[in-house]
Amino acid sequence: MKYFPIFFDVREKICLVVGGGAVASRKAAILLKAHAQVVVVAPQVSAAMQQLVDKHDLTLYARAFEANDVQKATLVMAATNDIQVNQHVATAAKAQGIPVNVADNPDLCSFIMPSIVDRSPVQIAISTSGTSPVLARLLRGRLESTIPAGYGKLAQLAGNIRDEVKQRLTHKGVRKSFWEKLLQGRVAEMVMSGNSKQTHAEIEALLQAVEKDDPAGFGEVYLVGAGPGDPDLISFRALRLMQQADVVVYDRLVSEPILELVRRDAERFYVGKARGDHTLAQEEINQVLVKLAKQGRRVLRLKGGDPFIFGRGGEEIETLMEENVPFQVVPGITAASGCSSYAGIPLTHRDYAQACVFVTGHLRDGTVNLDWDMLARPSQTVVIYMGLHGVPVICEQMIKHGLSADTPMALVQQGTTEYQKVYQGTLGTMPALMKNREVKPPTLIIIGKVVTLRDKLRWFDPVPSDENGTPFGAK
Ligand code: SAH
Repeated sequence: MKYFPIFFDVREKICLVVGGGAVASRKAAILLKAHAQVVVVAPQVSAAMQQLVDKHDLTLYARAFEANDVQKATLVMAATNDIQVNQHVATAAKAQGIPVNVADNPDLCSFIMPSIVDRSPVQIAISTSGTSPVLARLLRGRLESTIPAGYGKLAQLAGNIRDEVKQRLTHKGVRKSFWEKLLQGRVAEMVMSGNSKQTHAEIEALLQAVEKDDPAGFGEVYLVGAGPGDPDLISFRALRLMQQADVVVYDRLVSEPILELVRRDAERFYVGKARGDHTLAQEEINQVLVKLAKQGRRVLRLKGGDPFIFGRGGEEIETLMEENVPFQVVPGITAASGCSSYAGIPLTHRDYAQACVFVTGHLRDGTVNLDWDMLARPSQTVVIYMGLHGVPVICEQMIKHGLSADTPMALVQQGTTEYQKVYQGTLGTMPALMKNREVKPPTLIIIGKVVTLRDKLRWFDPVPSDENGTPFGAK
């Protein structure tokens, strides 16, 4: 270990920054965050530094550095673009035994600054011991994306109730179990999502459940949208909940690469639904969720796309609500969004489509019976979910209700995944085109002039298709 990592208390202490440029202003800003009394010495200051001077209680001496400036300082930072000045600052500070940092010059430093992930009061400092600041920044980026923004609030809460918990739960093991449940369970989720109204009641309930060792007090359901297939399209929150769930209940649309992101030891329940082959009826799925949560488990209900778009998510949480099972809903990227982006088909366009409608092409009784007058409008895009089976009927009805047979149309199969295939045609040609191809679900239908934009905008074609939509190397 080349450097000794510490966290330094600079509250109300004089900290000297020499330099007025962008780097100096970043250092001054961090010192201000840590409530230091910041003194800046610089003959000229940048706009960024001037902003700090205007907004904060910061002392600026608009002149060149003098050795005496380091007197009384607790820390000194040199960040001018003049190596001699920086050297002068370092020598003056070291002569007085004051810790000094010189930007971009580890040899002159008595301490170096880490990259910081700030979730105050939680702080994560990253250092490569000066070997690669870029690597430290990359690492920081990773941590920033996996550590929830609300972590600070959580730490604050833990700090606030610490004494009380210690008094109430005298047994050390029980106390540990309480903290584990608090920091990973629904109270934590509530605090982090800013929903703090019921937090006190929830903490009380958790304390009692831990005291009584009552599992029902710990269970909850996460209704999470997993997006259309590409695992990179899930949200930070989805990923976090996927990694803390005890059990996952998923259906057919959830791809294997996404399931791989779920905590390894989480138990898996498949409740998949193919057209006409419902492994479990919706009501049964609702009951499974309730049962698992009441066993005290953190249940991840993972759904393709967005849970509230043709996902029956509403029905599932209705049951949870009736049964008093706590839950949260995490949106996902819906197939229309994912497939259109990856197929190079913007859903709206100033010249071609001022509106876009999402409809389902599959009705309860298996027929396709849509409001054709509403759909067959020239300047809108129609996106049809679960419509693969009804393509001939859809094309026929759209033409019958006034759209030209030349209206462009695309079928996006397994959109956003490495198997994505796009079949392009028109209302007139698609039924025949499909006959010679094996178009498989899940497939999304897009109808409207915007489809032609794909000729220019396609950027993702893992399984290239020819003009007629014949896939090469089709699997
Ligand atoms: N809740 C989901 C939709 C479920 S309905 C969402 O928001 O996306 C299932 C239908 O979605 C499928 O029949 C298909 O039309 C469409 N779909 C979902 N994922 C898809 C994908 N990766 N590629 C193409 N279509 C998809």
